[in-house]
Amino acid sequence: MIDLHTHSLFSDGVLVPSELVRRAVMKGYTTIAITDHADASNLDFTIPRVAAACKELNRRWKITALPGIELTHIPPETFAELTQKARSLGAMIVVAHGETLVEPVHPGTNRAAIEARVDILAHPGLISREEAALAAKHGVHLEITARKGHSLSNGYVAKIAGETGARLVIDTDTHEPGDLIDDEFAQQILLGAGLSRESIAAVLNNSRELAARASALMNR
Ligand SMILES: [Zn+2]
Ligand SMILES: [Zn+2]
Repeated sequence: MIDLHTHSLFSDGVLVPSELVRRAVMKGYTTIAITDHADASNLDFTIPRVAAACKELNRRWKITALPGIELTHIPPETFAELTQKARSLGAMIVVAHGETLVEPVHPGTNRAAIEARVDILAHPGLISREEAALAAKHGVHLEITARKGHSLSNGYVAKIAGETGARLVIDTDTHEPGDLIDDEFAQQILLGAGLSRESIAAVLNNSRELAARASALMNR
């Protein structure tokens, strides 16, 4: 299992990074990104601390823990600047909290995140075809999510990604230990989103490639 979107108690998750990663090891994960909610107030607080924990855990345990961030409910106009800032502070994965059906995310967030070239546009809700095509062009991954509520549009996201060539990944958006899933359940969620076996293999490969790229960047 590769999961590039999870939360620790540096935002609204319940576990310190070490316990989150320990539980991921026990679940059979090979890679986990810790992507706590952030805006202009806490990027510089969160990223270096999570990165320090990841560095320690990577030296000792058989898993790759990637420090990341989820830019959440920020004004769309600030995406480019905060994405760049997050990367310069050491975020190896930048997730954008997209226009989910279940929260009043500012309209224009999906587009701004894609234009800022975040790594993953999480739970993009009813993303437009044009935006999905732009995501494909910019190499921004659209997310299929295991998270309740956000997952309401999984089937739509899978369909529009197929039509536009946008790359998909699957993440859990874990906040609590029970949110972590295994490979088998991930495949069931992808089947449930209407994807074929062949498309599912491609999704899992997208996660692998993105994780490998982030990991290489971290070890540079
Ligand atoms: Zn989110
Ligand atoms: Zn999240």
